[in-house]
Amino acid sequence: MKKKASLSSFDRASIVEKLQSRYYDLVIVGGGITGAGIALDAASRGLKCCVIEKQDFGAGTSSRSTKLIHGGLRYLKQLEIGLVREVGRERAILHQNVPHLVHPKQLILPIIENGSLGGNSTSVGLYVYDLLAGVKREERREMLSKEEVLAIEPLLNEEVVEGAGKYYEYMTDDARLVIEAIKTAASFGAQSINYTEAEEFLYDLNQKVIGVKVRDAFLEQTYSIYGKTIVNACGPWVDTLREKDKSLKGKHLKLTKGVHIVVPHEKLPINQLCYFDVNGDNRMIFAIPRAKVTYIGTTDTFYENQLERPDISQADVDYLLSAVNFIFPQIELSKEDVVSSWSGLRPLIHEEGKDPSELSRKDEIFNSETGLISIAGGKLTGFRKMAERVVDQVIVELRKQFGHSIELSETENIRFSGSEDEATNHPAQFIEDLFKNYHHLGLSHEQLKELFYKYGCNTATIVASINDIDRERADSIEQKLLLAELRYGIEHEMVNCLSDFLIRRTGRLYFDRENLAKIYPFLLDEIALLFDWSSEQKMKDLEEFEKEYKAVLDF
Ligand code: FAD
Repeated sequence: MKKKASLSSFDRASIVEKLQSRYYDLVIVGGGITGAGIALDAASRGLKCCVIEKQDFGAGTSSRSTKLIHGGLRYLKQLEIGLVREVGRERAILHQNVPHLVHPKQLILPIIENGSLGGNSTSVGLYVYDLLAGVKREERREMLSKEEVLAIEPLLNEEVVEGAGKYYEYMTDDARLVIEAIKTAASFGAQSINYTEAEEFLYDLNQKVIGVKVRDAFLEQTYSIYGKTIVNACGPWVDTLREKDKSLKGKHLKLTKGVHIVVPHEKLPINQLCYFDVNGDNRMIFAIPRAKVTYIGTTDTFYENQLERPDISQADVDYLLSAVNFIFPQIELSKEDVVSSWSGLRPLIHEEGKDPSELSRKDEIFNSETGLISIAGGKLTGFRKMAERVVDQVIVELRKQFGHSIELSETENIRFSGSEDEATNHPAQFIEDLFKNYHHLGLSHEQLKELFYKYGCNTATIVASINDIDRERADSIEQKLLLAELRYGIEHEMVNCLSDFLIRRTGRLYFDRENLAKIYPFLLDEIALLFDWSSEQKMKDLEEFEKEYKAVLDF
């Protein structure tokens, strides 16, 4: 096995040196789930590869999704039988390989008067879906009468609800799935780096692409990375890169924006995931309880503005509030109840005359005459299979040009970082064991559970390092744990700033914003100390984080 690549932010300068001096089999531009998945597939097949990400890992669409590993029910509606099978299988593989991040949750599909779903068609549809997607016996669909569904979800609108389908979806944490994929790829030698933008492609005399000129935002340094093959996995930016390559012809992307809003769980205290019709629109949205909050989404509208921070309008919020207030009429949610939000862009393939929700979610590979391979479309759920298809193609190219041998994808059987220990298949027992091992530190079950569902078995590394935290830096166990988590992020997950830690590594901006004001000045002091920042650097980071902190309520 290749030497493990570093993901420590303290090693940035030496990582940059390495990237400049190596000749890679594969250079991947884009560090969302697509790029991370490709790196894992390629590195585990023995290819020397790297990932270049211009923002933080997952900062594009891959931290802004509904955070579900879907079973592919919507594909059944479109009669895409092969896809239902593939997606169902992918879901099972991800659950097996990343149990700390992909886990089943019960979902209610209310049948409503004059709604888009009829009782009989839902029953038959879910039955066929269970068979096609290979759903486990204990997770198969059940049809509920009006009385039964109101007993388990009493807030539903009893005037219109006629019954429900009950089945399972798998919840995840998209940004953490990206970082765990990046870490797993690193264990096979793949080098990844964030805050490094591919500014232009480099070509040989035959106009074949041979590398990328990149700019490191932290070291303020421009340099070149060379590779035998180059993949563009830039999600919503795929066409921007194809344009740089002068190969933007034929099919192109159509972006649609999806907004989620977050309310405290006590404001929408539902007991399970609900997926329901938007009254008067031919669409459905989710309401998803998660720890202290419930999040609601998503919208689906065409988008043509700047890509880095898609805005959230009053109309987006009103659309979601009105849908949720119709199906749960007792709660009367208003704009003032919203405590956070996010907005993401779906990188879909353009199809003439179709509405946003009708555009296919299928992925597609574009091959340029320069040799640049671009991958667009798809879903978080299908990333492993997408990666396999891209790397299959890369390998054919490497064989043709450089005589590489063909290795088949092995990712079906690779357990991710945090899930290497098979004991993570049994979360309750794993958390109990952690509690027994570390209760002398004064940690609660709740704290350990929260850590487990982010870091899996790496929780033990974080907790064990609490003893190394200087008593002068933190006096309570909460503060010590926070600093231990931060240090883990810097040393193992390339955390460079407050936003990396509070938004993508821990999701606190979305799921615990109300408590952030108490902790972020303290965390900023620690980051500044660890990176030896000047007061200007510290101020800049604070301003950048506060921009994000305010933006989630700016609509
Ligand atoms: P991205 O995550 O956007 O990654 C591309 C990366 O490329 C970005 O991080 C960007 O910074 C980087 N980049 C761009 N230009 C450059 C450059 N020049 N140099 C270096 N890096 C560059 N799928 C599901 O399976 N389940 C869901 O529940 C789900 N919900 C969704 C809800 C919404 C609202 C949206 C928008 C999507 C949802 N999806 C879902 C789809 C899924 O999120 C996306 O398909 C997936 O995240 C796309 O990942 P990606 O890596 O292709 O793109």
